[in-house]
Amino acid sequence: MTAHPSAPPAGATVPAPPVGASMRGWLDQLRRTGRLTLGSPGMDLVHGVAGLANRLEGTSATAFPRPGGHPVPVVSGLLLQRAWMAEAMDVPQSELLRRFEQACLEPVPSREVTDPPCQQVVHHEVDLTRLLPIPTHNEHDRGAYITAGLLITRHPDTGVQNVAIHRLQVSGRDRLGALLLPRHTLAFFQEQEAAGRDLDVAVVIGVDPLTLLASQAIVPIGHDELEISGALRGSALPVTRCLTSDVRVPADAEIVLEGRLLADVREAEGPFGEFPQYYGERALRHVIEVTAVTHRRRPLFHTIVGGSMEHLLLGGIPREASFLSDLRRSFPSVRDVHLSRGGTCRYHLAVQIDKRSEGEAKNVILGALAVHYDVKHVTVVDTDVDVHNPTEVEWAVATRFQADRDLVVVAGTQGSKLDPSTVDGVGAKMGLDATVPLSVPEMTFTRIRVPGELELDVESLTEPAPADWLERLSR
Ligand code: MN
Repeated sequence: MTAHPSAPPAGATVPAPPVGASMRGWLDQLRRTGRLTLGSPGMDLVHGVAGLANRLEGTSATAFPRPGGHPVPVVSGLLLQRAWMAEAMDVPQSELLRRFEQACLEPVPSREVTDPPCQQVVHHEVDLTRLLPIPTHNEHDRGAYITAGLLITRHPDTGVQNVAIHRLQVSGRDRLGALLLPRHTLAFFQEQEAAGRDLDVAVVIGVDPLTLLASQAIVPIGHDELEISGALRGSALPVTRCLTSDVRVPADAEIVLEGRLLADVREAEGPFGEFPQYYGERALRHVIEVTAVTHRRRPLFHTIVGGSMEHLLLGGIPREASFLSDLRRSFPSVRDVHLSRGGTCRYHLAVQIDKRSEGEAKNVILGALAVHYDVKHVTVVDTDVDVHNPTEVEWAVATRFQADRDLVVVAGTQGSKLDPSTVDGVGAKMGLDATVPLSVPEMTFTRIRVPGELELDVESLTEPAPADWLERLSR
């Protein structure tokens, strides 16, 4: 056993937590480095906030003072690049997936605290849109949605918690429509509903980047994702008990909605603009009744624009981490994986292998397709191809792949219901083996390169061409 990170031996120095362990600290780091933009005061909550956040996407987080005249500011775009996630976790980008996976394997139990910041202000009279600036994002969204709310549930008998982000439609003063895909939140709820009971929940808005990432971990049911956040920060995450239930929430959160998932109640929810850049349809879905709202003094409301880079990457990076570790268990030749943006960070997986035997790439394709039903197309490449660069992957397909020999197609499989080309989620899988055959002459697949090119100090060897450039050439 190694020492518990939250209880170091006497005299040991505890390393400072990564900068991503605090939401306000992270936003300030973004500001100091030119990556936080202030919107003009009073941006419209309907499309205005989402539009400006999207325009700055990829380069800057956005903070909106008095959105729609509301006193609570909105922030968006906390994690817009893979490099930002590595920075928030305080690891080099090359270690991002391995560090995340390690945190999943070695969770750190949370630490209970009293008098938490998230309960500085308490409202028992709930009127969601009066209390909070909840934006409407895409054109055909049904209305205002809470999109960055961590839905925390607690098993009433075991006390085990689950954390996940579900889209939450504002359906009334104290009512939210929730899309619960068939994962852990739904399993917790179904057990209670079968016994005729509601399930206590908390919706936590405005958490640190590490907790945000941890909420997306693909770990078995019974694993409290908050403990993965503790592992990422290197010390126990401070949590506190809700005022009206036993659910434990991150103590430093900006805003907490306390409530219940209602047994035997379904109401219309949707449409809502989702990660594949299409709308999730309107249907009868689960309902949360909000019974209390607590928040910090002067809280910040975090929103994730549906289908934005923040939305895609938050789901994508934890998935990459579990693909890498799952594949490596069966295939030690796997070196790296990537879920590309064009594939909505869900459907297109590129896998890099250090190929040792013929046929291996096709086994990797079959293995990858079995890890998660969302993956639709898998491309396997050699170690000289950067899987994080879609142009490199396309080049490998263009020059190393023959469709009659290297293509794998499996019909009638389970896919993503949000992929509109499937029939209710049923569709085909495809694998492309873009690796070099082992038995060809070495020169056939040797990539061209200019010797010494990468070592040249371009700046010291060049200058911008001046006005008299033609004369200078013959001087
Ligand atoms: Mn879970």
